[in-house]
Amino acid sequence: MLDRDETRRWLLANAPPRMRTPPEHPDEICWGGRKGKYPEDVLRWKDVMAERGWTAPTWPTAYGGGGLDPDDAKLLADEMAALGLRPPLVGFGLTMIGPLLLQEGSEELRRRHLPPIVRGQIRWCQGYSEPGAGSDLAGLKTRAERDGDDFIVNGQKIWTSYADKADWMFLLVRTDQGSKKQDGITFILMDMESPGISVKPIRLISGASPFCESFFADVRVPVANVVGEIDRGWAVARALLGHERNMIADLFKERGDRERLVQALATYAGGDPVLRDRIAELEIDQACFDDTLARARDGVQAGHKPGHESSIFKYYGTELNIRRRALWADVLGPQAVGWDGPGFTEDELTATKVWLRSRGNSIEGGTSEIQLNIIAKRVLGLPNVT
Ligand SMILES: Cc1cc2nc3c(=O)[nH]c(=O)nc-3n(C[C@H](O)[C@H](O)[C@H](O)COP(=O)(O)OP(=O)(O)OC[C@H]3O[C@@H](n4cnc5c(N)ncnc54)[C@H](O)[C@@H]3O)c2cc1C
Repeated sequence: MLDRDETRRWLLANAPPRMRTPPEHPDEICWGGRKGKYPEDVLRWKDVMAERGWTAPTWPTAYGGGGLDPDDAKLLADEMAALGLRPPLVGFGLTMIGPLLLQEGSEELRRRHLPPIVRGQIRWCQGYSEPGAGSDLAGLKTRAERDGDDFIVNGQKIWTSYADKADWMFLLVRTDQGSKKQDGITFILMDMESPGISVKPIRLISGASPFCESFFADVRVPVANVVGEIDRGWAVARALLGHERNMIADLFKERGDRERLVQALATYAGGDPVLRDRIAELEIDQACFDDTLARARDGVQAGHKPGHESSIFKYYGTELNIRRRALWADVLGPQAVGWDGPGFTEDELTATKVWLRSRGNSIEGGTSEIQLNIIAKRVLGLPNVT
């Protein structure tokens, strides 16, 4: 049982002062990994938290986690929020492949991969989408052929976020060409240092290049790196999507920009009543979303299997963020259409890029249309319309 005062004292004593302020630059957000370069205090904060397992508070101590039960994990999260502390570590290891291994991985895979995730030593990326397989993910063609204790992987992935920065990739490959498309898929873990892998960044509408095309030419992957069973990876793939959709929904909890938005309404739009109504409506919807999400997360333990409800949260959270960013753009008016150069402040240029980036929220992790299909069929049990 954690003691609240003691926890607060420990956090105050161990958090470098800058960790109590929001990051000023994306490079100050620690994703870990061998290729990452982070400021000294960012790394110190990550290390001191990882030492207690508090980068992954609910994971079992056997794998380096904090071993906290849901109540203690909430106490820790509340204390961190009250002190305005930054998360010490983020990434797909903590939010996607780690939870999946706790749920579906063998003891050997857990012991090998979870501790380096907790310590932020290894950064992960996700190789699901292919040029011909996005919403129709089961149509994927990247193949893996057995050669003794290895698979030989050939093919291509696309939209692989941070493939150029990651150390390992979890991916879906076709191991049986003949069967029905959902069968014959295997979920494997691939070291990005393996010979035969090349990655090429893709530029986004927002100007950033966070994701890549990834190419595989005769890449050897040990059969021991399979999660679940060979040819039965579709169920594992779907379990991971549950974790991914929960992670994406969590990104769109209260944004902390309400005061700034109201201020901008006065500065840029003279307090326009229509825009004011839209802000009020958005904030009410945000409060309902946050409360519903908090209730759904109450009592969630490490190893929890998210169900189809993750699609509800993914859909609503991302659509809410798209509304928020569009509202910001409407409040800023012509000042929201700058790209660079004079006539625009840094904040205005950032608002434009954040607005454009938000368009991807309804696509990543499965599009809004696909989430609505899942909610209709799997949550509400509605019949197919033919
Ligand atoms: C910011 C961002 C980050 C991403 N990161 C990753 C990553 O790290 N790893 C990875 O593997 N992928 C990643 N993706 C890819 C993402 O998962 C796919 O873009 C997504 O699944 C959609 O696939 P698609 O682009 O092929 O579009 P398509 O599947 O071709 O869809 C095109 C349109 O048709 C609609 N549609 C398709 N099928 C149906 C249907 N049955 N019913 C109704 N409408 C339908 C879709 O909703 C969409 O509007 C990322 C995407 C974005 C935008």
